[in-house]
Amino acid sequence: MTTHQLCDILNQFAPLSLQDSWDNSGLQIDNNNAIVTGVLICLDITEQSLQEAIEKGCNVIVAHHPLLFQGVKQIGHNNYIHRCIRLAILHQIAIYANHTPLDKVQGGTNWLLGTQIGLQHITYLQTGETPSYGIIGELTQPMDQTAFVNTLKEKLGIAQIRGSQMGKTPIKRVAICSGSGSFLIDNAMACQADAFICGDLKHHDFHKADNRLLLLDIGHFESEIGTKELFFSLLSKKIPTFVLHLSEKERSPIYCY
Ligand SMILES: [Zn+2]
Repeated sequence: MTTHQLCDILNQFAPLSLQDSWDNSGLQIDNNNAIVTGVLICLDITEQSLQEAIEKGCNVIVAHHPLLFQGVKQIGHNNYIHRCIRLAILHQIAIYANHTPLDKVQGGTNWLLGTQIGLQHITYLQTGETPSYGIIGELTQPMDQTAFVNTLKEKLGIAQIRGSQMGKTPIKRVAICSGSGSFLIDNAMACQADAFICGDLKHHDFHKADNRLLLLDIGHFESEIGTKELFFSLLSKKIPTFVLHLSEKERSPIYCY
């Protein structure tokens, strides 16, 4: 299989035409459409992921977050993005990212998260706009708020979750927008969500809860790490699994001290 054929598998599932204007999903660095020797799958592209790809004999990296968002006018040494470009070109490694299309498409980032935490009847949060950001679904049984948060921690393997003050309303309807999803808090309230889960809430966002729903910030990395499994399952339908490698070295760039 060639590199472009591999990209097409992912483009078919999450078409690049769905991406936002500020996004830059797609093949960012080509390897002259070489035959795929190995694929490293990760969330973020860093020098460490490039090193891991080199060690594992991979000539393609598939990531959720693009390496390049804006135009690069010169390539120096004092910036990790520039050093990643150098490494990729030096070792003829292609870099492909599927970002906002994967967040929006049915079965993508948010749907995966919803399924992982046991939501049923999942639909888009913003009605009439499909595909779009954010989903809403229902738990099979209402859960009290503490039990719900503990279930999230357990199912997603998260040690700590930041949230708004808990109330007494049992959680049944749950809205989700992975990553920087705080812009959908109002939509979640309008859809009578009992809880809204996202990956990046700021101080003032927590005030918006206003005892109307439980706001939960599970972490940007944690809310999107499932994209690795998603890429793996999409590619493994067409490519032998021994060619596919989930990055073992990457971790959240946020440390808690
Ligand atoms: Zn993200």
